[in-house]
Amino acid sequence: MTKTVNHWIGGRAVEGASGNWGPVTDPATGEITTRVALASAEEVAAAVAVAKEAYAEWGTSSLARRTAVLFRYRALLDARRDDIAALITAEHGKVHADALGEVARGLEIVELACGITTALKGELSTEVSGRVDVASIRQPLGVVAGITPFNFPAMVPMWMFPLAIACGNTFVLKPSEKDPSAANLLAELAAEAGLPDGVLNVVHGDKTAVDALLEHPDVAAVSFVGSTPIARHIHTTASAHGKRVQALGGAKNHMLVLPDADLDAAADAAVSAAYGSAGERCMAISAVVALDSVADQLVDKIRERAEKIRIGPGDDPSSEMGPLITRAHRDKVASYVTGAAAQGAHVVLDGTGHTVEGYEGGHWIGLSLLDHVSPDSDAYRDEIFGPVLCVLRAPTYEAGLALINASPYGNGTAVFTRDGGAARRFQLEVQAGMVGVNVPIPVPVGYHSFGGWKDSLFGDHHIYGNDGVHFYTRGKVITTRWPDPSEPHAGVDLGFPRNH
Ligand code: NAD
Repeated sequence: MTKTVNHWIGGRAVEGASGNWGPVTDPATGEITTRVALASAEEVAAAVAVAKEAYAEWGTSSLARRTAVLFRYRALLDARRDDIAALITAEHGKVHADALGEVARGLEIVELACGITTALKGELSTEVSGRVDVASIRQPLGVVAGITPFNFPAMVPMWMFPLAIACGNTFVLKPSEKDPSAANLLAELAAEAGLPDGVLNVVHGDKTAVDALLEHPDVAAVSFVGSTPIARHIHTTASAHGKRVQALGGAKNHMLVLPDADLDAAADAAVSAAYGSAGERCMAISAVVALDSVADQLVDKIRERAEKIRIGPGDDPSSEMGPLITRAHRDKVASYVTGAAAQGAHVVLDGTGHTVEGYEGGHWIGLSLLDHVSPDSDAYRDEIFGPVLCVLRAPTYEAGLALINASPYGNGTAVFTRDGGAARRFQLEVQAGMVGVNVPIPVPVGYHSFGGWKDSLFGDHHIYGNDGVHFYTRGKVITTRWPDPSEPHAGVDLGFPRNH
């Protein structure tokens, strides 16, 4: 073990004091490379206190000052893309090009935050009544917390804190303990950009740290991204403690392929979206619903492409897919493939035996393709979060849509077709928060908000975009009348105020 990841509080590294440490593994070798501090409730409270103190000044700082910091931050992140991506690959395992893509999508939100001046413009109505004006403004909440998953250790934190601090809040981030290093670099660069100490803090930890944030009276709001059971816990607990909550959960994203689709394009999209980042994406396509007349052809095309994917360590430029995050997760993913045949699936590709020469200890698994999957099977019902693609067949558009809408999840979905009318029907009828038309992973750009429906999101704000600005601010309406010395006083009137 060569490295220690400590907390970042008040603009400096703060050594973990709880005595608890978590192991961080290089997924390509299976070796523990790092230990990460796991905060106690007291350490979390200390970070919140620092953030609260910083809020006293940052919360009323000018927009000019905030955006100057954000523009400098954007430039520093841009210059350090490769370093951030290298940290992601070393701890998450995804290939470098994919890690660079993650950094680029996170940068989008920093760019959005640079334009906070426009997003925070208020509204003014003059002369709503005699000499009365009404203004609507939005103000920050105070200290807000972000709790993030392992699969996007840089991008998901960047979905949260840039907008939160642009709105004038201070932030306590609790990243995934499985790949914690990228978060610290993001915070260090923010300090280098001139962000005052205590505005962005990183506290590492597990359930103890999370629950301390959820229960702390000085935390005004919580943004969470992770699995559905934990998202539900976060929403329930933080709400019970009077906080504003947005909790994004897991997913099972479907791709509906209609008979008139460009099947080569659909197969390319299915392979890219199902197996990219080894399937460890909340917007990964995990189920293809193909209409009967094209299903056999489509499965052949997917298989041909999937067989050619090169698997290897993320820092090897020839690798297209890396390992899974932990050995336990790898074994769990494999169990869905080994159990699939017994539940009626036709196993077209079985990746469970895959190894990579020279990296025998890595958390490897190859690509698996399951056809004729039953909607009742475990492989279909559970979020596998690995490189396993299920194909289900449907006789009609209506049957395919009904299958998708029966899923408890509703994150992303896509339809592949050349029929504009069918695509239009699908986008209106499908129960999901993000829809792609011939686009397999419809992750919205920064200025449109991201979020799912049903068990994929608890709370009523999606993340980033306008919803993000609303989540991190609260509205205030100011009604003003200035005395006019030329007019007599109206006198006492106990009636309810009316406009005239
Ligand atoms: P996870 O739910 O296990 O962990 C997420 C965070 O919650 C981590 O910071 C972790 O430390 C913390 N946590 C874990 N168990 C906890 C507990 N019992 N109590 C309190 N906190 C706890 O998720 P993960 O495995 O890190 O990430 C993968 C999951 O995230 C997948 O389900 C994926 O779909 C989901 N995800 C969703 C989105 C989205 O936008 N909807 C995006 C990325 C990932």
